[in-house]
Amino acid sequence: MTTPSQSRPISPGIYADFSHLFSGGATAFVEIPNGPPRNLEAEYWPSIDETPEKLEEMKETFTFTTLPPYDPDHPDEWPVTEAILMGDMEEALLAFPGFPTSFEPPPKKHEVRPIPGIGYGMFATEDIAVGDLIIRERPLVILTPIAPVVAPRLVLVERLTDENREAFFALHNCKGPDLDPVIGIINTNAVHATLPGFKGPCAAVCKEISRANHSCSPNALFSWDIASFSESLHAIWPIAKGEQIYVCYGDQYAPRDTRREFLLRRYKFHCKCYSCGLPDADSRRSDTRRAILEKSTRQDAIDFAKTYSDTVVHKWLHDLSAPDDAVIKRCKALFKMMGDERLLGYSLWLQYQRICAVYCALGDAENAREWAQKAAAWSRSRYHDDCGWDAVARAPQNTAWWTLRVLLKKAMNMWP
Ligand SMILES: [Zn+2]
Repeated sequence: MTTPSQSRPISPGIYADFSHLFSGGATAFVEIPNGPPRNLEAEYWPSIDETPEKLEEMKETFTFTTLPPYDPDHPDEWPVTEAILMGDMEEALLAFPGFPTSFEPPPKKHEVRPIPGIGYGMFATEDIAVGDLIIRERPLVILTPIAPVVAPRLVLVERLTDENREAFFALHNCKGPDLDPVIGIINTNAVHATLPGFKGPCAAVCKEISRANHSCSPNALFSWDIASFSESLHAIWPIAKGEQIYVCYGDQYAPRDTRREFLLRRYKFHCKCYSCGLPDADSRRSDTRRAILEKSTRQDAIDFAKTYSDTVVHKWLHDLSAPDDAVIKRCKALFKMMGDERLLGYSLWLQYQRICAVYCALGDAENAREWAQKAAAWSRSRYHDDCGWDAVARAPQNTAWWTLRVLLKKAMNMWP
C-alpha cells in the first residue's frame, strides 16, 4: 500500500495531446487525480503474496514490539499497540515515510453501549455527516496471519498495559470455548491493516472500532494508515443522532444467501440487517442490483488499476455521436442503485472522477467543482487526504480536460 502523498506517477494519457489548445503559459496547471492512491485489487482480495520460502523464513523470526516507539514529545501516546512482527517488518516500518505521525483523536461523536440480546453496539451521539471522521485510534494489537499460534499471542496479551488488556478481554468472542480466547477475540474483532515488509493483510484489534456491528448496507467504513499507525472510521452515509454505526464484515456485493452463510460461519450470527430482512421478491431484486454494482464499479476499478486509464470516459470523449450526458447518465444510474441498496462501492472515486472529467470537457465549471468537492470528501474519508481534488474544485478550468469535448465538437461543426 502507498500513502496518498506517494501515489505512483501517472502517465498523462491521451488527453495530453490536446494541451496546446488551451495552455495559457502563465496558468497553473491542475491535474485531475487519476485513480486511487493504492492498489485496489489488494484491497478487494487481500492475499498473501510472499513466496512460500519467504513465509517459512519469516516464521522463524518473529518479535514482540510496542509501537510506535516511545516519543518524549508525546508521552500520552505510549505505550499503545503490541505487535508481532516478522522478518524485516520492524525495520521496514521504522523506515516508512512519516511513521509515526502523531494525530489528535477527533471529538467524540459516538458511544458504545449494550444492546439487549446482541451484545454491544456503537451509536452516534450527534448527527454525523458523510465523510466525517467518527473515530481514529491506534490498535490494541496488530499481527500477521502467519504469526505463530497460541503461546506468542498469549505473551502478546501479557505485554499489554492493564487498561488495554482489560479492553481486549472485554471484546466479544464469537468462537466459543474450544478455541484459545485470545485467538477467539482476535478472530472475532480483527479489522484489516497492512504493514510494510509483509505482502498480505494484517489483523488489527481496536478498542472502539472493533465494537462496530455489521450491516450489509453499512453507514461507515474503516481505513488503515501506516504512517500514523491508526485505524479510522468515517461516515459514508448521513448518520442521525441515536442511530447505530455499522460497518460491513464481508463481501457486500455477494447475494443475500452467500452473505448470510459467510457471516454465520465466520461470526456466528444470522444477519437481519435492512437488506437481509427484505421479503424474498425484494431480496432477489436487491441481489440483482448488487451484482450490477459489483460488475460496474468493482470491475471498472480493477480494469483501471491494471491500465491506469478510464476507457469509459476516453471512449465518450472521442465518440462525438454519443450524447454529451451519456457518461453522466451511466454514473447517475449507478448512484441511484447505490442509494436503493444503501451501499457505496469501493470505487466511488472512479465515478466522481468520471463525472468531474466530463463536466470539465463540457466546460461546465459549476458542476465540475461540485463533483470535485464530492471526490475530495470521499478521498479524505478513505485516504486521509483530498488526493488532489481540492485543487480541481478550486480551478476546474485549469485541468487538461477543460472544454475538450467542446473544442472537438467545434472542430467538427457539431457544437451549437
Ligand atoms: Zn445483512
